[in-house]
Amino acid sequence: MSAFLPQLIKSVPTLNDARDRRWIYVPYDRLTDRAGPVHNTNPAQCGIVMVESLEKGTRRPYHKKKLALLLSNERHFALEQAARGVKVIYIFTPGSFGDGLLEAQKKYALKQITLMRPAERELRLDLNQAQQQGLKLEEVEDETWLTTEAHFDKIFAPATGARTFLMDRFYRAMRKHTGLLMEGGKPIGGKFSYDQENRKPFRGEVLVPNRPSYPPDEITTEVLRLVERQFPTHFGSLEGFDLPVTANDCHAFWNFTLTHLLPNFGPWEDAMATNHPDLFHSKISALMNLGRLLPSEAVNDVASAYGQGKIPLASAEGFIRQILGWREFMRHVHRVTDGYRNLPVPYEKPSKGLYAGAAPTALDATRPLPAAYWGVESGLNCIDTVVKQVVNEGWSHHITRLMVLSNLATLCGFSPRELTDWFWIAYVDAYDWVVESNVLGMATYADGGVTATKPYVSGAAYINRMSDYCKRCQYDPAKSTGEGSCPFTALYWSFLERNSDRLSGNQRLAMPHATLRKKPPAERKALRERARVAMDQLERVPRPKYEPAEKP
Ligand SMILES: Cc1cc2nc3c(=O)[nH]c(=O)nc-3n(C[C@H](O)[C@H](O)[C@H](O)COP(=O)(O)OP(=O)(O)OC[C@H]3O[C@@H](n4cnc5c(N)ncnc54)[C@H](O)[C@@H]3O)c2cc1C
Ligand code: SF4
Repeated sequence: MSAFLPQLIKSVPTLNDARDRRWIYVPYDRLTDRAGPVHNTNPAQCGIVMVESLEKGTRRPYHKKKLALLLSNERHFALEQAARGVKVIYIFTPGSFGDGLLEAQKKYALKQITLMRPAERELRLDLNQAQQQGLKLEEVEDETWLTTEAHFDKIFAPATGARTFLMDRFYRAMRKHTGLLMEGGKPIGGKFSYDQENRKPFRGEVLVPNRPSYPPDEITTEVLRLVERQFPTHFGSLEGFDLPVTANDCHAFWNFTLTHLLPNFGPWEDAMATNHPDLFHSKISALMNLGRLLPSEAVNDVASAYGQGKIPLASAEGFIRQILGWREFMRHVHRVTDGYRNLPVPYEKPSKGLYAGAAPTALDATRPLPAAYWGVESGLNCIDTVVKQVVNEGWSHHITRLMVLSNLATLCGFSPRELTDWFWIAYVDAYDWVVESNVLGMATYADGGVTATKPYVSGAAYINRMSDYCKRCQYDPAKSTGEGSCPFTALYWSFLERNSDRLSGNQRLAMPHATLRKKPPAERKALRERARVAMDQLERVPRPKYEPAEKP
């Protein structure tokens, strides 16, 4: 007996309801009644259409926890709306979201369906196709963002062909626009950014609180069974699923973060610790990207906690910059580059097929992503520790994504597209607008500097300074060549050497290039050899198969 459907039955519309109500499509990533058309429509006159698309679930071998989180939140959202008096059309389709909406439109003779402009490019494509088959959609502005397209376009004028965007410039303008942490037109404390103060390694200075856990209820249990049954060959594990899936639990999760974690967010934002893999990070990305927590709520709550003296300025500013700055910036860059499709850089392969991702590769990186990313131990303790967390949880924090996983890929020249697809599959918070901009843009420099001013790469010294991974590793971070030497350092120098034509003119890399030039030829040769051995070791292990489930 289903747990979900019998609870929904009372809210299924009659044909009269269908005629008299305003129908709104709520996609998987806009599960909110606190903004947008669901918020603005009286529940007694409101109907929502929701679709579970098997085709989307099988498009990539998404982490099982990601599918469970998304489906359970969708189902709970449908029931929460039903409890408010909203009528709900809930479609299960083997096809696409567009197919599901066409089915709803036909079955209930809906004249028009309203939706906020979808965040995901993939969903926009899908709905465009359905519109060509007769789907009647009314698109309205997505009110859940903190900034508009006009804000970004006014600052950078992408329509004129501008293709370099600086997050900091955008962030300053948006601080002024929103007035967040501003006083008399000036940033509180005199600085827009406290990034320099937020770079401490973690040595156990303060207690890291345990996060709340939300054991599965009957609806989630049903979803977990469904995911295991329908997507058995997908990445990751469902074991220990305890993520929030109801509006109340999402709210409680955020309140815990705000009260107990964010006061210490800033100083240890970049630190990595084996026994505290989450440290003081909010872990709200998955919920925010589903619409369960609005960015406006997050930044306003943090600004007011700062005002009440509960969160220090460096932590409050650091956190607000992530959301008002990076998150908004990334979605605009994705939009104006058409998902990184229109850049003046080499492309690895043409994007064929409706949903094929763009494959820019400004640094000519095309090697296949090795088994280490798919859960096979590599002996590199930093990589193995983080990948293990990702297989279990579908999440790791920003610096592990940037300076461990992406760092190794960029140094070795692994395909940025393959890395992007891996992140998309493996992380619970990954959607095209955010994962493509972070991986192709920020993390691998595949876009040639559109998103970041230099490649984020480092040798072992950075990882050793900011983590405790090296202490537990078979390799020695202080040695760059010879037996027991850490591969990262040799890979770093080889990367600079390999890309010196492309990167030596970059002012931000002038120092390391000067150091490289001073190295004697014998040392450079030994570094090259150490890097080659490391790459051979990574590449010779066969990759396990994580396949999308069979197409329906
Ligand atoms: C290679 C790589 C891949 C990434 N892929 C994703 C992804 O698929 N989805 C995703 O939401 N974020 C992604 N990020 C950005 C960032 O790492 C995550 O948002 C963050 O780690 C999520 O954990 P948190 O909620 O604890 O974040 P916190 O550290 O607590 O930060 C607060 C919030 O700021 C926002 N934020 C911070 N940095 C970014 C950023 N660079 N881009 C967008 N939002 C940001 C997120 O909403 C995050 O929840 C990626 C970063 C890198 C380097
Ligand atoms: S020594 Fe090298 S491989 Fe080992 S954890 Fe440190 S950086 Fe990673």
